[in-house]
This record gives sequence, C-alpha cells and structure tokens, in this order.
Amino acid sequence: MTDTPSSTDPCIRFSNVSKRFGTLTVLDDFNFTVAPGEKVTLIGPSGSGKSTVLRILMTLEPFQDGVLELKGLSYHEPGGHGPFRASEKHLRKIRGHVGMVFQSFNLFPHMTVLRNVMEAPISVLGLKRDEAEARAVELLGMVGLADKKGHFPSQLSGGQQQRVAIARALAMRPRVLLFDEPTSALDPQLVGEVLGVIRTLAHEHDLTMLLVTHEMRFAREVSDRVCFFDKGKIVEQGDPERIFTAPEHARTREFLQSVL
Ligand code: ADP
Ligand code: MG
Repeated sequence: MTDTPSSTDPCIRFSNVSKRFGTLTVLDDFNFTVAPGEKVTLIGPSGSGKSTVLRILMTLEPFQDGVLELKGLSYHEPGGHGPFRASEKHLRKIRGHVGMVFQSFNLFPHMTVLRNVMEAPISVLGLKRDEAEARAVELLGMVGLADKKGHFPSQLSGGQQQRVAIARALAMRPRVLLFDEPTSALDPQLVGEVLGVIRTLAHEHDLTMLLVTHEMRFAREVSDRVCFFDKGKIVEQGDPERIFTAPEHARTREFLQSVL
C-alpha cells in the first residue's frame, strides 16, 4: 500500500484468497491477476465460483484469507487485523474504480432511464445535475437509447434495460467493468444488441473487463484471455483461440463439449 502503482502493475491481483460460506470452500488459495486494459472471460460450470470472484471485487462479499488489490488499493485495511477490515471510506474508494452489470439488470424501477444513469454520479461523485445529465445523455446515445431517456424500465425490453444498466455502470467512469452473465436472462433475439455494446467497450484500451458468459463464440472474439474455472480454481487459462481449439485439460474439454 505504500508503493505508488506503476503502469506495469497488474490492475487486479488476488493473492492466496480464500472464500468460504460456512463449511463450503468456494475459493481456496486463489491467485489471479489481470493487467490494465485486459479483457478476460471466465467460463466454467455453474457453482464453480465465477460470480463469487466478481462479487468479491465489487466489495459485495467479504473473504476470509489472502489479499486482494485493485489498482494498488488493497482490500485489507493497512495495519488492520483480520480479513476485510477496510474502512467504509476505503471501500468506497475501491468501489469507485469498479462497475458491475448483473444478469438481472437491477435498474431502479421508479426512476426514468435518464435518472437511473444520473443517480450515482450525483449522489456518490457529487456531480452537478447538468453535468450528470450531459454524461447520461452521451452514454445513452452510446448504447443506442437516446430516445428512451424519459421511459421507465418496465416500458423497455430486457435488452434495452441491460443497455441502460451498462450506461449506468459507465457513468461512474470505472477503470474496471465486471459483467456477470449479462445476456443470460434475455430472449435469444435480444442477446445480440447487448453483445454489440459490450463488443464496442472491449475496443476501449484503457478499460479492464472481466466477463462471465456462456456465449463462447463471443468470448473467443473479444477476450485477450479465457480462464476455465472448476471448483473454485482456474484449471486452465490462455489465449481464447487455444482454449477453444486445443484445451489441455480433460475437464475443459468436457465442459466445452457440453456447451458448444
Ligand atoms: P458460479 O457463478 O460459477 O455459478 P458462484 O460463485 O455463484 O458460482 O457460487 C460458488 C459456490 O458458492 C456455489 O456452490 C454456490 O452455491 C455457493 N454460494 C454462492 N453464494 C452463496 C451464499 N450467499 N451462501 C452460501 N453459498 C453460496
Ligand atoms: Mg454465477
């Protein structure tokens, strides 16, 4: 924590992180690093710990052992005792770097699309209303929904709601964007429009992206690296082309055969 982050430091580093729910060990001595600007896809069977990794990064889950760093900020309070004792203030700072898009959109139902995107920049970052509105309008244009700003979430399709959720996450200008199965709740004909927005974001060199998805063809197309998870461990990782065409581990092969 005393070192100033340099451009060669990883953006995200899990060092020997363990996460348990009661007697169930979900992550056991987990090590994982992501370079700044890297786009990494996590694949693997249900229950293998993929969402837990994202939720820990988003500070939604405490963990028991190990150290997690994000852009040089540690998730343990320096000099603190025991796990996950960072102060609220410190956690807010970490959260300020991370945005997350969930399977279930999670928009505020009582707010218009515009208000959904403006809300956190005003309440968390202290942006002035007109600045927040200008930012929101620009982002809604980017996701192709400029004309829906006065609508409520219930008036939109699932694909449109998910695009609003992406705009809302981006409004905080995060350095790291996490996607947890962003298209799994969508009707098949709406998947493409959401993947299209994510594809555009994947071309942004500064944005670090972690994506959990079952869209294997898309993962192959946009990722710098694919990590195959099984039982809380990364069994195999590497270049998407290699993972999808020549997986080394039997478990990876079995999994890919079951989903492709
Ligand atoms: P994935 O996203 O790969 O499907 P998860 O990270 O959601 O996997 O879950 C990993 C394991 O942790 C699963 O066995 C799941 O049942 C368990 N788990 C997740 N959240 C909780 C919780 N809040 N309480 C108890 N067990 C949980
Ligand atoms: Mg999950």
